[in-house]
Amino acid sequence: MAKWVYTFGDGRAEGRAKDKNLLGGKGANLAEMASLGIPVPAGFTISTEVCTYYYQNKETYPPEMKEQVLAALAEVEKIMSAKFGATEGPLLLVSVRSGARASMPGMMDTVLNLGLNDQTVLNLARNTGDERFCYDSYRRFIQMYSNVVLDIKSEHFEHLLEEHKEKVGKKFDVELTAEDWKVLIAAYKNEVQKRLGKSFPQDPHEQLWGAVGAVFGSWMNKRAITYRKLNNLPDHWGTAVNVQAMVFGNMGDDSATGVCFSRNPSTGENLFYGEYLVNAQGEDVVAGIRTPQPLSLAEKKSMGSDLPAMEEILPPLYTELVGFRNKLEDHYKDMQDMEFTIQKGKLWMLQTRNGKRTAQAALRIAVEMCEEGLIDKKEAVKRVDPAQIDQLLHPMIDPKAKKEVLGKGLPASPGAASGQIVFSADEAEAWSKAGKKVILVRIETSPEDIGGMHVAQGILTTRGGMTSHAAVVARGMGTPCVAGAGELRIDYATKTLTAGGKTLKEGDVITIDGSNGQVMKGEVPKIQPELTGNFGKLMEWVDGIRTLKVRANAETPLDASTARNFGCEGIGLCRTEHMFFDPKRIIHVREMIVASNEAERRVALDKLLPYQREDFVQLFTIMAGLPVTIRLLDPPLHEFLPHTDADMAEVAKAAGKDVATVKAKAAQLHESNPMLGHRGCRLGITYPEIYEMQCRAIFEAVAEVKMKGETVLPEVMLPLIAVKSEFDRLKVMVDRVAGEVMAKTGAKFDYMVGTMIELPRAALIADKIAEGAQFFSFGTNDLTQTTYGLSRDDAGNFLVPYQELGVIPNDPFVTLDTEGVGQLVQTACERGRKTRPDIKLGICGEHGGDPASVHFCHAVGLNYVSCSPYRVPIARLAAAHAAMGAGTISTTA
Ligand code: ADP
Ligand code: MG
Ligand code: MG
Repeated sequence: MAKWVYTFGDGRAEGRAKDKNLLGGKGANLAEMASLGIPVPAGFTISTEVCTYYYQNKETYPPEMKEQVLAALAEVEKIMSAKFGATEGPLLLVSVRSGARASMPGMMDTVLNLGLNDQTVLNLARNTGDERFCYDSYRRFIQMYSNVVLDIKSEHFEHLLEEHKEKVGKKFDVELTAEDWKVLIAAYKNEVQKRLGKSFPQDPHEQLWGAVGAVFGSWMNKRAITYRKLNNLPDHWGTAVNVQAMVFGNMGDDSATGVCFSRNPSTGENLFYGEYLVNAQGEDVVAGIRTPQPLSLAEKKSMGSDLPAMEEILPPLYTELVGFRNKLEDHYKDMQDMEFTIQKGKLWMLQTRNGKRTAQAALRIAVEMCEEGLIDKKEAVKRVDPAQIDQLLHPMIDPKAKKEVLGKGLPASPGAASGQIVFSADEAEAWSKAGKKVILVRIETSPEDIGGMHVAQGILTTRGGMTSHAAVVARGMGTPCVAGAGELRIDYATKTLTAGGKTLKEGDVITIDGSNGQVMKGEVPKIQPELTGNFGKLMEWVDGIRTLKVRANAETPLDASTARNFGCEGIGLCRTEHMFFDPKRIIHVREMIVASNEAERRVALDKLLPYQREDFVQLFTIMAGLPVTIRLLDPPLHEFLPHTDADMAEVAKAAGKDVATVKAKAAQLHESNPMLGHRGCRLGITYPEIYEMQCRAIFEAVAEVKMKGETVLPEVMLPLIAVKSEFDRLKVMVDRVAGEVMAKTGAKFDYMVGTMIELPRAALIADKIAEGAQFFSFGTNDLTQTTYGLSRDDAGNFLVPYQELGVIPNDPFVTLDTEGVGQLVQTACERGRKTRPDIKLGICGEHGGDPASVHFCHAVGLNYVSCSPYRVPIARLAAAHAAMGAGTISTTA
């Protein structure tokens, strides 16, 4: 006969912690605690398989279940020496608690004191001699049951309670007597009758089945379904139901209830931490009705509380609780979040689970537990979630700081920053030249704003999503960014920002927190990230485990040094066009673009050459000994042209042309679909002199740095190759220029020539391209755009609803679409390796820093991932997780 019900209690249990799928998290851990000999009120768990059965069979239960429940209930009665529904002799009351595999907001709330009715309450009063406690428990039960099972809002009962208190002239619940509660119970039952047209169920068994049915029913309620969708939890998991003997923390001053953590969940400090209330039940502690008291004296001191600690007033019970804390932490080898109740001087444990924690706490707990010998290094590394350590790498708002929040947007790029607000990129540059710290505030940003974005401490936009220009660029630069703060109003004309009923002017100071999207008034104190200490230790362990290398996408000396500090193993993508936006050079870039023939173009390019060479000298020096992949010019030329008349006039003057010619050139270069237009190697083929200048700058820099005795490992990368002859033609040019530079300088150096694989066609003919290419770097941003046939800049309008509707699981620009785009990556790897077994393979799209995508890169056998400097540690950690085959973890809060 199929087994649907599992009992626990009295030092025994039919299940264990490992049975979470079957018993849910709460049930499995109750069983485990019981088996460990920890005092747990006896009970039983109706398994998740019943939930599955229930939904597969038109919301009915398996036929044998009822009998198994009754048998289990009898077992509980035996252990607790009390009878469910007893009108004389010891009375068993139960709680009914839901419990899925993962803790899940949206599921049914717990019902306490089930089994009370007009008769059993009299019996309880006789047994306990405490009428007030009994009627208080009964009225709580009516309210909870009506709310959770019968769907009558709690506020109706609270209203009756307030009314009664007013009538009898009492302010607090504790002042009410048994007589008051009796009056209220009658009123509550009336309320149920009035709203439901039937009376409150008196039969304890009817109550029990009602509550069990409500738990299974809540699995498919709207809140729970939405939560599962948002968190990618499958519907078929199902929930379990726990029915457990009640113990009472509200039986006087020798009774109490509390919650505790085996270590501090916000700092990770190895200090027992928690709160409790004397003479209280269940959720009173978290409900905020009374101020909870600290557990330990140490905690009392650190919180500056003047309430008595449990350690002071109940020392033997405190010692016993500390014993359970130690036992459970030793057993689970992880920080525990526990609930307990003391009934008339006897301590009962009601729940334990691995506690949620902040990223800081996760790191500290993992490292310290390893040092204490509780877990090994691999386990410690598994305990820290790559997605969460982002917070640790940027300045953070001091948790103790006071702040005034003006509004909220999307947490687009983590970290906190303060500065004076300016409303244009030009102003940002001017103000920062004058030594001021600025926050660039824009409705949205565009490539022209790069200069201002670079110098800003932070970026705030009121439009656009997580993949808007501002968000992507800010993440790349490691600059905090709050994007799409739609409730804020920007007026460029008056240079004001209106938020939360306040209007700020240019120059006013704000603070933004790119980790949670908050925009705050004034300068809010911050704390700096700590990259040594525990972080340094964990990263050392990480590097001992991973096989995938991690490089950075960087072009400026600052980004390159940041990346090296974060432990990168080279540059995987240096985007040369970013170097063109510098105010001193952009004018020559524009001269080059408006030139009417090759000779004129070469004149302009010659002016750019020394700048480019100097860029590479700096990069090679910072990255000495490590490979540097340089991508030749990629964007279409019109991206470099100005839009305003004044700027056009300036270009005309510099180039010795009239404004009309410049405007005509801009019009001629206009493209209706720039993403698929005249860009990448197509520029290099049609204007070979541009790429030639870039290669000369690269190789001259190589020669110069090599001459100083450093090791330089340059890799020249040709973008947007679609056909083999594009690559072959350009490779001839690269080799020629390298030869010329060697001949001219007398230096001998090695270099590699390879390509980005960012078009499906290139992935498919990778075997042919690999005949010439020594490396592939997957440009998965463009590869995603071209595989999906969607433009990243225009996708916001449907990608968000797509995810909400569950059409696609996540944003393919954030997490690599392994099913489609990934197949092209894998194909290209296989075909490339067939032609050239030692071909170097890497990825340089945004995905290189996304933990799930890193797992994929490890699985297809890439040599490295390349990501923005601030994501380097995340990628290192994710690579270690991938090497251990560790799944994603969810203990971080
Ligand atoms: P949640 O999942 O929201 O934490 P719980 O099922 O843990 O819900 O219960 C809510 C509260 O009720 C907790 O404070 C818990 O300790 C208390 N509680 C649950 N079952 C019992 C019981 N059998 N005896 C006493 N208190 C209980
Ligand atoms: Mg709850
Ligand atoms: Mg709980």
